[in-house]
Order: sequence, then structure tokens, then C-alpha cells
Amino acid sequence: ARTSWLTRLRQGLSRTGQSIGGIFVGVKVDENLFDELETALIMADAGVEATQKLLASLRTRVRKERLEDAGQVRAALRDILADHLAPLEKKFPLGQTKPMVVMIAGVNGAGKTTSIGKLANHFQAQGTSVLLAAGDTFRAAAREQLIEWGKRNHVNVIAQEGGDPAAVAFDAVNAGRAREAGVVMVDTAGRLPTQLHLMEELKKIRRVISKADSAAPHEVLLVVDGNTGQNAIAQIRAFDAAINLTGLVVTKLDGTAKGGTLAAVAAGSQGVRPVPVYWIGVGEGLNDLQPFVAKEFAAALVG
Ligand code: GDP
Repeated sequence: ARTSWLTRLRQGLSRTGQSIGGIFVGVKVDENLFDELETALIMADAGVEATQKLLASLRTRVRKERLEDAGQVRAALRDILADHLAPLEKKFPLGQTKPMVVMIAGVNGAGKTTSIGKLANHFQAQGTSVLLAAGDTFRAAAREQLIEWGKRNHVNVIAQEGGDPAAVAFDAVNAGRAREAGVVMVDTAGRLPTQLHLMEELKKIRRVISKADSAAPHEVLLVVDGNTGQNAIAQIRAFDAAINLTGLVVTKLDGTAKGGTLAAVAAGSQGVRPVPVYWIGVGEGLNDLQPFVAKEFAAALVG
């Protein structure tokens, strides 16, 4: 199963004709190679900062080690990229607190509901009981979807018809404590009726969760679509400014050539804080959520 998702990730990351690994095949190590690499990294949404930094390191390495073979340069880029991405790698601290309260945000369509399902499944498989809070009270369909999913997977869901999302979150944290749940995951809205401001609503939910448990939320995750490149950077910045993110779930990396986005995050591109990436989504199935491992990711991107 592990090789299959890596293959899918690799295929996704090289979907355009401009696969980074493909550039090294049958070429000499010259200025033209660096030009092509620069284009490919920019096309993969690595952003200017990361692209310059990676290429500068690569040039130094090529010079110092007198690399003359394109295959060696490719291996060097793989290492350099893995080192560059390493600060984003962080193990999710499951089980450090009980209940661990996890607030989950993300714009509609990013894969939030799917990721919550995958996480609930994963946590329960690890022997950690899960309680879900249907915090998107603005979309009846979102609540119904979560309740339905909970029934099928034997996960308890706290919901309130048309209620205040912050109140639902508050109740869920208290219920989680009373029921001795391992993890309480609080879903939030990805879009609101126009007159309300999403970020203000999220801040309020965060504040009210702290009233139920002063150490909570222990984790504040943003689910972001890995396909969206520069837009993903803008989303991370906006959500981080509002609710202080502790981690990312980057979805849809099986269907994208835009894996460079994570290099941009690691480089602090456009003032983004390098928020750790706990998981990556590599498919629609329940098991298609994998911990982010910098080395694996670099190997998938560079080939
Ligand atoms: P939400 O609006 O943020 O809750 O988004 P959903 O969870 O409903 O997901 C939107 C669409 O993206 C659905 O069709 C999901 O199956 C799909 N999706 C979510 N995560 C992934 C992923 O990692 N890979 C792929 N290929 N599709 C995904």
C-alpha cells in the first residue's frame, strides 16, 4: 500500500510535460540545465524565493563536488530539496493530551470533510477514540454529511441544527472530556453567508474553545488544496493571521504538478510562516492520507 501511494504522488507531481525529473535525462550539465530547472520549479509553484535558494545550493554543490553527470545533479537536487523541506516535517502529537482538541479550518472544496474522515479513521485505528463537532452550522448539508459519516464509521458527532458554531465547539469539548474521548475534532465553515466575516467567526470559535479548556485548541489545522499554488500561500497566511495555525493538511497531491508549493512554504515565500505539514492527501480513499516525510516528498518531486 505504501508503494502505491508514493507512485500516485510521483505521478501527480509529474503530471505536466515539464516533470522535474525528466529534465535530467540525456543532457549535459550546463547553463541550459539550470535554466530548465528554474522554469520547472517555477511551473511547479515553488515560488521565486525557494527556486533561487534551491538553485544557488545546487550550483555550489555542482561546483564543489565537480558533478559532471546529470544523474548526479539530479540526486544532489533531491538531497537539497529534502533538506529544504525538512523543517516542515513534524509528527502529529497524538496522545499527548486527553482529549486533544483539534480545530480544523479550510475553504470549501479544499478537502476538509474528506480529511476529517480520513483522520478520524486513522486515529481510531490507533486506538484513540474520536468525537466530531459539526461546526459548519451554516451549511445544513455539511452537518448532515458529517452526521451520516459518523454513523457509518461509529464516530460520535456533536451537532446542533442552525446553532452557533462556537456553542457547538464548546459543547463538544465538554462532551469530549465527559466521555473521555482521545481526540475532539472541530469542523468549521469554509464560507459564510456574505454579511459575516469568516475569519472573525473562526477567531470566535477558537476563543470559545479556550473557555471550555484553557489549553485548547491543542492543534489548529488548515486543510489546503495542494493544486492551488500561490493561492494556497495566500490562504495559509490569512488563516494563520486569524487563528494561529499549528499545522497543515495538504490535499490532492495525487492529481497535481504543483508540489512545489511546499517548497514555497518552507522558504517563507511572500511572508508565509513555514507551518508544519502533518499530512498530505494522495487520493480520495480513507487510507489516502499519509504523514509528510520530506525525503519521500523530495524523491517524488525530483524523481
Ligand atoms: P470540503 O468542501 O473542504 O469539505 O471538501 P471535500 O472534503 O468535500 O472534498 C472536495 C473534493 O475533493 C471531493 O471530491 C473529495 O473526494 C476530493 N478530495 C479530497 N481530498 C483529496 C485528495 O487527497 N486527493 C484527491 N484526488 N481528491 C481529494
